Amino acid sequence: MDACPTKAFPGPYEIDAGRCISYLTIEHKGPIPLEFRKAMGNRIYGCDDCLAACPWNKFAQVSSEAAFHARVELGAPDLKDLATLDDATFRQIFSGSPIKRIGRDRFTRNVLYAIGNSGDPELLPTAAALVQDEHEDVRDAAHWAVGQLNGPSK
Ligand code: SF4
Repeated sequence: MDACPTKAFPGPYEIDAGRCISYLTIEHKGPIPLEFRKAMGNRIYGCDDCLAACPWNKFAQVSSEAAFHARVELGAPDLKDLATLDDATFRQIFSGSPIKRIGRDRFTRNVLYAIGNSGDPELLPTAAALVQDEHEDVRDAAHWAVGQLNGPSK
């Protein structure tokens, strides 16, 4: 309960799924509510901090299934590279991954929230360019990211 960045557990054995970053970044259509954007930090697809904190998971074993292994080339992705993927390249990179099903637009929306939380002024041009994007959720996220990087908290 304490590990959750968005306080999605109102009490023991209860979860408010609408506050969960995994829900918000993967399932939620449209702009993510402002109250959660800063708490998302750099999480662009899911969260699972509660699973990392759960004592039961100390018994977890690394899967021998190759499909479950992390892809080395995506180990430390650059936010600028992720934000500038076009639809065809997005589909190509995430072919065979569950990330593909959220589509380029929702993915880019999420990356822009991470850019807004990055505190990195070098990412400002990337966010500013996406203010003109065709998709309204991307434009909304780009405006927010620009505001964060230009704001007093940068
Ligand atoms: S996945 Fe993250 S945001 Fe969702 S309930 Fe767990 S800790 Fe909270």
